[in-house]
Amino acid sequence: MLPVVQDEAARPDLRSLSASELSALVARMGEQPYRARQLYAWLHRKGAASLEEMTDLPRPFRERLAAEASLSTLAIDAVQESTDGTRKYRLRTHDGRFIESVYMPDEAGPQSFDPEADEEEPATRVRRTLCVSTQVGCAMGCSFCMTATMGLLRNLSAGEICDQVYRVNADLRRLGIRGQRPLTNLVFMGMGEPLHNYDNVLRSLEILLSEAGPDFSQRHITVSTSGLVPNIVRFGEETPVKLAVSLNATTDEQRAKLMPVDKKWNIAALIDAVRSFPTRQGRRVTFEYVLLRDVNDSDADAARLSALLKGLPVKVNLIPYNENAGLGFGDPGAERVAAFRKQLGSRGITAMVRKNRGRDIAAACGQLAVEGQRRSRAGN
Ligand code: SAH
Ligand code: SF4
Repeated sequence: MLPVVQDEAARPDLRSLSASELSALVARMGEQPYRARQLYAWLHRKGAASLEEMTDLPRPFRERLAAEASLSTLAIDAVQESTDGTRKYRLRTHDGRFIESVYMPDEAGPQSFDPEADEEEPATRVRRTLCVSTQVGCAMGCSFCMTATMGLLRNLSAGEICDQVYRVNADLRRLGIRGQRPLTNLVFMGMGEPLHNYDNVLRSLEILLSEAGPDFSQRHITVSTSGLVPNIVRFGEETPVKLAVSLNATTDEQRAKLMPVDKKWNIAALIDAVRSFPTRQGRRVTFEYVLLRDVNDSDADAARLSALLKGLPVKVNLIPYNENAGLGFGDPGAERVAAFRKQLGSRGITAMVRKNRGRDIAAACGQLAVEGQRRSRAGN
């Protein structure tokens, strides 16, 4: 074992450092530049869980790294598997918090699972998507969302955001999926509000897109936001990945009840931000709309939604509400969902219905991790 050193707070987290920061650290330690490249590859290309694994780095170098920096790795605490192949992971952080990442395989290609639907791609490509968390809990307080019941416990570091990808890749390799990086697509739609943890999310994106690291394509990463308008504008300028916006309602009165963020940045401000979002090929903004029975699923809602989005180069994702959250909202049912979609279609708005993944493993978005937090609190 490498020596365990105290003073966690003062030491940089290796997995959260950019390639240039890692190079600077390695240079300060008096090592050759190629050592930094080796280290970066271990961390982000091979997804190493510990310094012990980095066998081609000299032991004294690893010992100094252990003394001068930290490397905390997420532990898989529980996995629920669905008959459709969806796997929900509950991951434990170094300080005993729980987050959730959801793996969704799709062998049939982009048409059957939509958040990442990409018209430019052949429909036959195998897609393996991971839904990642960005915070432990969430501060936004949406009334229909399980994660909101936790409040915000803390932000995830860039390293923790990336490590969800690395731990799940390792698990998928263990299950026999070949290749260094079984995951092909990422959606930032797990626990937390990504644009409320802006700096760490941006840093994680830089790493996830890096050629020397996991080398994801910018077209295969989508970040979802509840609508933090100023950060949407920054995001558009500072990263090339795709954006999804959770609209979820068609009047401010209704939206503010569901999503307190609307009191700060209303629908008009949100639509304005999306209108000026720099689009390029394959980067149309997606509007997400969670359909809640008898709340926002009427024909009048469909008409207002169409009017709001008229002329915008956007896509719409309808998400039938995932119940079991005990929050008093219901799934409108397949018929109403289809009727809502048809109403949009007749007004020239194309909408996809998000396929329900892992219905048999029941837990609503965020529920596994919420449970973990409750259990650990009760246990302390
Ligand atoms: N905080 C970000 C990303 C995480 S939530 C956001 O709000 O966009 C990801 C998506 O899940 C959002 O569109 C949200 O509206 C939706 N969502 C939350 N709880 C849900 C539930 N129980 N059923 C269906 N969708 C839900
Ligand atoms: Fe947070 Fe998104 Fe849930 Fe709202 S829907 S509470 S923003 S995770």
